[in-house]
Amino acid sequence: MARKLALAHLPTPLWRKDELDRIVGAEVWVKRDDATGGAEAGNKIRKLEYLLAAALDANATTVLTCGAVQSNHARATALLARSLGLSCELFLRTRTPHEPTPLTGNHLLDQLAGATVRLISPEQYRDRSALMNGRAEELAQSGQRAYVIPEGGSNGLGSLGYVDAMREVREQVDLGLCGGATEFDAIVHACGSGGTAAGVALGAGVTGLTRRAVAVAVCDNRAYFERTIERITAEALACDPSLRTGNVQAEVVDQFKGPGYGIASSEQKQFIVDVARRTGLVLDPVYSGKALFGLARLEPKPSRALFIHTGGLPGLLAQGADLEAQL
Ligand SMILES: *Cc1c(COP(=O)(O)O)cnc(C)c1O
Repeated sequence: MARKLALAHLPTPLWRKDELDRIVGAEVWVKRDDATGGAEAGNKIRKLEYLLAAALDANATTVLTCGAVQSNHARATALLARSLGLSCELFLRTRTPHEPTPLTGNHLLDQLAGATVRLISPEQYRDRSALMNGRAEELAQSGQRAYVIPEGGSNGLGSLGYVDAMREVREQVDLGLCGGATEFDAIVHACGSGGTAAGVALGAGVTGLTRRAVAVAVCDNRAYFERTIERITAEALACDPSLRTGNVQAEVVDQFKGPGYGIASSEQKQFIVDVARRTGLVLDPVYSGKALFGLARLEPKPSRALFIHTGGLPGLLAQGADLEAQL
């Protein structure tokens, strides 16, 4: 079994509000993985508990990873690497070479953590693995040891963090913290690199929490994520063959991604504002807002759902200007 560090504040709460049920049109239990920590909070900590343990076991001195400029994963990696005494280098994708990258949200936290940030173009980003592996070799020549974490921490090892999250929900449900019922019609969450989806589907199979694991894509499309999730799942099964007992396949829906990655439609922004004003629950416009928006429109609509709030608050704080019209 793979070793993991204890980095997250666990168990995260299960949260429910009648007013949220009314907005969504279903009984919604929110798994508050936005509360897995402080500034490093969100879904990525659960993956990094495994990935950073592997980095330490490999005697790494530096962690390399990648993402968008406002990547939550890059920010969580930068902060947690520093907390473990590791250096961190981030390869961050900008839309155009000279796109301004203001010191807000995740990017501010990356810099605060002292991560080395390399801004790269979308073309360079396509070869991100080669780029990071090349940098790892360079570091090796100067006597350092780099550990490369893929986009989103999404490989088989990282996805085990979400198998564990489903085991955590199973324990909470069995303690009666979820209104007495022992299953959900669906478990729903945002999907950006596929690792969470792979772990949730495997974990749902192992724990019997649901037969329907819905991954709401925020970029790319269904075919891309089905392929990606299949690859990550195979890697996870190689890490832990006992997960083979599961038989739940991720259901990818890609009609709620809005105008593009990181860009929400005005209807989605209005939804995020409405949820915050009526329930106090803060969603982000890149991931969790689109996912809950999708749950409210899902067909067939589950009558009892577990929604995984995956975090993303710094990304929201970087988009104030985009939300102004809805406020
Ligand atoms: C990364 C992220 C996701 C998506 O998780 P993946 O495992 O990358 O698919 C969802 N929500 C938030 C807030 C994230 O940062």
